[in-house]
Amino acid sequence: MAANSPYEVHDPRFNALIVKTAELEELYSGCRWAEGPVWFSDLNCLLWSDIPNERMLRWVPEGGVSTFRSPSNFANGHSRDRQGRLVSCEHGPRRVTRTEPDGSITILADAYQGRRLNSPNDVVVKSDGSIWFTDPTYGILSNYEGYKAEPEQASRNVYRLQPDTGAIEAVVSDFAQPNGLAFSPDESKLYIADSGASHDGTVPRHIRVFDVVDGTKLANGRVFCTIDNGNPDGMRADLDGNIWTSAADGVHCFAPDGSLLGKILVPQIVSNLTFGGPRRNRLFITATRSLYSVYVTATGAQYP
Ligand code: MG
Repeated sequence: MAANSPYEVHDPRFNALIVKTAELEELYSGCRWAEGPVWFSDLNCLLWSDIPNERMLRWVPEGGVSTFRSPSNFANGHSRDRQGRLVSCEHGPRRVTRTEPDGSITILADAYQGRRLNSPNDVVVKSDGSIWFTDPTYGILSNYEGYKAEPEQASRNVYRLQPDTGAIEAVVSDFAQPNGLAFSPDESKLYIADSGASHDGTVPRHIRVFDVVDGTKLANGRVFCTIDNGNPDGMRADLDGNIWTSAADGVHCFAPDGSLLGKILVPQIVSNLTFGGPRRNRLFITATRSLYSVYVTATGAQYP
């Protein structure tokens, strides 16, 4: 590997997932806390959030970076539904929204059992159209990434939202701070990060995995892996079911059996990542001030 290689190989299987000559590229710097990268293959662009600056940015391969939405309501994580529409978590109004093709915004969820959500953080869309999102309290802890408020929910839940009816159900309620989440490629499993150690050092820095039952419920939760540097936040699966997750020292890659395969070292704390590019073989990484990318041989599993 090159002297400035960003790779740390912990298991020989990692060698097949990375391009050893590929360098980590910084595509943009100037955020306060970059998060929520989402790739638009049809538009050949990446959107992501700069939460404290209350804006969303857009990167295109030839044209650099522009503002996509400002103010963004302190938007955090994003995904796309099966029609390609942007689905967003917004800390400010404490809601999950969908951006329609004409640019108008539809509120999908802002309350559960008659009480406001905490501050939706990250979101994935299942192939049946259901929207699964996490609801920790980060966006209401202070006025930095939202508006300071007391939580109205008794717990920090993960929810399943049925978009045609608007019904939402808590599918798991025992996380300190549920954060990033990702389905396995066959959607038989859901991985959920607990980032609660950010404010309580006694919380385990782990990702848990659940069996998805009947496509609508979670069962058999167990620890999938523990992050050895910082907290887990956003994550994505590749086509082989490996989990690529954020950590303080970079992106960590875990095999489906939970073993650490390797790391892509990043100079700033990583918050989230997504696969993009025309062949979904390029990782886009949000890390504190910056957006980075690196080509890999793995292919992102999840639409988009
Ligand atoms: Mg997050």
